[in-house]
Amino acid sequence: MSLRPRAHIHLSNIADNWRTLQAAQNGGVTGAVVKADAYGHGLPQVAEALHDAGCDHFFVAHSYEAEITRARLGSHPNIYVLNGPSPDEEALYRENALIPVINSSFQFRTMADWLVDGVKMPRGFALHFDTGMNRLGLPLSDATEIAEASEAQSPILILSHLACSEDAESAMNAHQAEVFSSIIAAFPGVPLSLCNSGGVWLGEDYHHALTRPGIALYGGGTPPKGVNLKPGMTLSAPILQIRQIDAGETVGYNATWRAEQPTLIATLAIGYGDGFPRSASNKGFAMLGETRCPILGRVSMDLITIDVTKAADLARPGVYAQLIGPEAALEEQAALAGTIGYELTTGLTPRVKRIYET
Ligand SMILES: *Cc1c(COP(=O)(O)O)cnc(C)c1O
Repeated sequence: MSLRPRAHIHLSNIADNWRTLQAAQNGGVTGAVVKADAYGHGLPQVAEALHDAGCDHFFVAHSYEAEITRARLGSHPNIYVLNGPSPDEEALYRENALIPVINSSFQFRTMADWLVDGVKMPRGFALHFDTGMNRLGLPLSDATEIAEASEAQSPILILSHLACSEDAESAMNAHQAEVFSSIIAAFPGVPLSLCNSGGVWLGEDYHHALTRPGIALYGGGTPPKGVNLKPGMTLSAPILQIRQIDAGETVGYNATWRAEQPTLIATLAIGYGDGFPRSASNKGFAMLGETRCPILGRVSMDLITIDVTKAADLARPGVYAQLIGPEAALEEQAALAGTIGYELTTGLTPRVKRIYET
C-alpha cells in the first residue's frame, strides 16, 4: 500500500451542493465555476458529475480549462471563459464553441476582429462590467458605446462580480447591485449574472438569470445558518511513525514546539510539498477518529507531526488521519493556517492522490 496522502473527492456531495444552491434560488439558473481544476477537486470529473446533475453552464478562467471541459462534456453545455480571449485564439474558441467573456475594450476589439466576415461566435459572447471591484471588467462608462458596437451580434449574458459577497452586512453588495441594474438600460432583454457563492446567499434580489457559484460547490465559503453544505473532499495522510517524547523535548525544524509533559507524537506523510500550508505550523490539526490532534512544530515539505496522546488507541503506522473533510471543516482548517478554503484546496499538489467517489 502506498503511503501517499490522498483526497477522496465526493462527487455526489458536490452535486448535492449544486442542488442546494439551486434550491436557494427562486428561479434563475445555477451554473458552476470549475476553474483551477475545480478548486483542486479535478476539473473533468467534477464537470461531468455536475453536468449529470443537470448543470448546463460552466465557468472557467482559461481557454485551456474550457477545452478540457468541452472534451469531457461534449457539445451540449455552455462554457464561459472568464479571463477572456487573446487575439490568436479564434480557432480554439470556434472549434470548442466557447463563450468568450469580454472584460476590456481590447478584448472587445479582439472579438470584433473575429466577427468582421460576419461569422458569429457559435454560442455568442458575454460582457463583464466592473461595478466597483476594480479588478477586471469593462468600465460602466463604456456601456452605451459597447451596446451600439455589439448590435450586429448582441451579448448573450451581462455579468459582474461582487467584491464583498461573503459579508452580508457590507454596503458594497447593495451598491454593486444597484450599479449593475443601471447597466441593463443599455442592454434591454439580455440575461444577467451577478452572484458567486456568497451572492447566492444574499437573496433573490441578487440572483438574476444565472448564478456562478464556485466555493459552495466544494463545501466552503460562508453559507448562512441552516444551509448545510457537504464536504467536496476528504484529505487524509497516513501515519509513518509514532514516538513517545519526554517533557522538555522539542519537535521539528527550528524546535518551535517544546513538550511540557510526556507526549505521544505521530508523524504524517503530508507537508507543504503536497500543498498543506506551512502557515499551519503549531496551529492546524488532524483528526484521528473523533479526536482532534493538534499539529506540533513546523509543517515541513513531506511531513507533519501531530499530538496523538489522546488517541493512543488508534495511533499506529498506516492509519490515515483526516486534515480536511467531514470531521475537519475546510474553512476552520484554512482559517487556522491564516488562509481561506479556496487557497487550501486549490493549492493541493499532484502528489496528493485524488480518488473519485460517486
Ligand atoms: C471565481 C469566480 C466566481 C466563483 O466565486 P466563488 O466565490 O468561488 O463562488 C464567480 N464569478 C467570477 C467572475 C469568478 O472569478
